[in-house]
Amino acid sequence: MIPAPADYQRLLEQVLGDIEPEIGRGRVADHIPALSSVDPHQFAMAVADIDGSVTGVGACTEPFSIQSVSKVFALALVVASDGARIWSRVGREPSGNPYNSLVQLERELGIPRNPFINAGAIVTTDRLLSLTEDARGAALDFLQTESGNPGVDFDPVVAGSEVEHGARNAALGYFMASHGNMENPVSRVLEHYFWQCSIRASCQDLALAGLTLARHGARADGSRLLTGNDAKRINAIMLTCGTYDAAGEFAYRVGLPGKSGVGGGILAIVPGRCAVAVWSPGLDSRGNSVAGVAALDRFTTLTGWSVF
Ligand code: GLU
Repeated sequence: MIPAPADYQRLLEQVLGDIEPEIGRGRVADHIPALSSVDPHQFAMAVADIDGSVTGVGACTEPFSIQSVSKVFALALVVASDGARIWSRVGREPSGNPYNSLVQLERELGIPRNPFINAGAIVTTDRLLSLTEDARGAALDFLQTESGNPGVDFDPVVAGSEVEHGARNAALGYFMASHGNMENPVSRVLEHYFWQCSIRASCQDLALAGLTLARHGARADGSRLLTGNDAKRINAIMLTCGTYDAAGEFAYRVGLPGKSGVGGGILAIVPGRCAVAVWSPGLDSRGNSVAGVAALDRFTTLTGWSVF
């Protein structure tokens, strides 16, 4: 059954009721200490329709650390102003390795597999920094503008914690620099990368910001960020690389382009129809929100809105 937008509330309530036992399952991320104190028993889900209306359940206006979901927005901004140039520095294949792995990067001479693993996102942030002189500001500005919420902001405590515990990301950055795959000083790029990951936004904010990808590249004000082809390409990379080393399983269960973060958020896109954001901090062994994936699985099962 395909519900009309007016039924979104009932649909989301049904999803929440169906997946309630999953909320609180999994482990909260602890490699960034400031994230480890978050209560895992939280859940939120919001759908933004391409007409701009938004419907939510749970703590859908509660801001959380979006972490790697920010990688989608950074990539979109780079592709928007730089076209295909980024693809000489980062690939478009699933990595089949943990998101912060060094081994593959060494074997592949400093060219990350895709823009959604940490190494690839550090390259994207480097390029965004060259293009804007303020990569983290550009990502924040996009989120604030598209969500219509000036309260979307950085979390200095999370950013500080990431800087302090950022040795692994620093290793990725310096290793890529050793192969000539960095344009700016690594320490400056890392700073922007960590702050970009620390952005706090709610499911409602994320769903609205994701609409650009559901609208084939058009922003909320009707202007065009991306060509239809580029929006399609970013959605494709989300589908194949957006949920860590579980993108195959996510495609199997949910069947939508999606990008997750270790804060427990996931942004999924139904091209031409809506953007869906979920948040629940308990993560599975691959780093994806247990209740979040379950909710998206239920959402596409009830609606039939997968891309397949
Ligand atoms: N800032 C996090 C890190 O670099 C992002 C991880 C994630 O959400 O995948 O470890």
